[in-house]
Amino acid sequence: MSVAEFVKGVHDGQIDVVEHIHRTLEECKIINKEYGYLNLISEESAIAQAKLVSKKRKGAKGALAGLPVSIKDSICVKGVESTAGSAMLKGYIPPFDAGCVSRLRQAGAIIVGKTAQDEFGFGSFSTNTGIGFTAPKNPFDRLRSCGGSSGGAAGLAQKLSVPHVALGESTGGSIVNPASFCGVVGLCPTYGRVSRYGLIDYGSSLDKVGPIGKTVADVALALKVIAGFDEKESTTATVPVEDYPSFVKKDVAGLRVGILKESFGEGTDSAVEKSVWGAIKQLESAGVDCREISLKIPIEYGIPTYYIIAPSEASTNLAKLCGLRYGAEEKIEGDFNTYFSEVRSRAFGKEAKRRIMLGTFTRMAGYRDAYYVKATKVRRLIIDEYKNVFKKCDAVISPTVSILPPRFDEIKNLTPAQNYLIDALTVSPNLAGLPHLNMPVGKHNGLPIGAMLTTDHFKEGVLVQLGAALE
Ligand code: GLN
Repeated sequence: MSVAEFVKGVHDGQIDVVEHIHRTLEECKIINKEYGYLNLISEESAIAQAKLVSKKRKGAKGALAGLPVSIKDSICVKGVESTAGSAMLKGYIPPFDAGCVSRLRQAGAIIVGKTAQDEFGFGSFSTNTGIGFTAPKNPFDRLRSCGGSSGGAAGLAQKLSVPHVALGESTGGSIVNPASFCGVVGLCPTYGRVSRYGLIDYGSSLDKVGPIGKTVADVALALKVIAGFDEKESTTATVPVEDYPSFVKKDVAGLRVGILKESFGEGTDSAVEKSVWGAIKQLESAGVDCREISLKIPIEYGIPTYYIIAPSEASTNLAKLCGLRYGAEEKIEGDFNTYFSEVRSRAFGKEAKRRIMLGTFTRMAGYRDAYYVKATKVRRLIIDEYKNVFKKCDAVISPTVSILPPRFDEIKNLTPAQNYLIDALTVSPNLAGLPHLNMPVGKHNGLPIGAMLTTDHFKEGVLVQLGAALE
């Protein structure tokens, strides 16, 4: 059943929201035992919310009435522990809802829990978990990764049998990467399309909230609900929100899609290539004009640029986590610096510490111009180059990730630099703040493969249109 059909069923009185949420929560518990997609199941508040929705009169139940939704742990939910997967925020219960969460609530959606992720979003496999957290397992093979950092969200989107949308967050690819590894649809919107108010930030100039679900229509509907200007968040755009679901049925004939040449060949698994080419052929047979294109800024520049800007911002954002205001605390002994070091040494995981050190270094006086400032200039060039490309194309297509979901024992042997390279294809659209979509386009040895479509700023409608043509 699609999300739209489910909501209609609720509006027509054919689905009992309270009974349905009880069943969904039971299913979440069963799935969670085996796969670990949820850091927390918000049973009590979900039932309370379901009762509220069911009491509302016909016509006032909302666009997502009764729909079970899950929220990445880094997005604040009022009254529900929100830790961003970190021991540093253990026990933090936000007194407010994030902007996207209050919109979901107003639309009648029901929050079932907080999904597992890399600590603060620092990773691509959901294996850089905070102290005391466990990595979610791939829905097709429990010895493999779900991708990351929104791994729990994508896994749950795949595994839950009832209509459901998961909210993820992406800084450098964390929506499309796990969607690709879990065989679901993930839509990362334009920077500023969805409010970041109440998002536990990673890199403030990069972070985006977006929906993950089983079909393009499901994520399009969810995006329509969460998108739009938010007076509490000064980087949200005032650009009007389009009726994304209406793009599902729009004809794609005549659209122009650029095939990103550099994303094929060396480093890309041949099974991934084959499936993505299959998708390109499918678009062509629907009348899309597909042509090879090349970016003038070498694609290899994406990773170093991103891994300077993102940790720089992360190290700044994490400075507020000092064991005094939120989450982790210690007995106060010694001076501030001693206390600060104690708490942070104990509660941050290894990758978080690495990012804090990298980011602090690249912002330091004497190094700032050579690293941080230079990276922001390269970022500008990347944006300009995409803007050029979109003069000639409506979208760009490439694989989402160049490899199949790896096994946990393989991931363990990767160096940090090899780890970062997994994001080779996803960081550039993220640096440019461009909307992008993962579409499942095939399988190899039972493991899903994804293609990524990228469009110009605020062209999420075209993403929906092309995505639907691939379904
Ligand atoms: N894998 C990237 C990183 O580690 C992106 C993560 C994200 O988008 N949150 O930074």
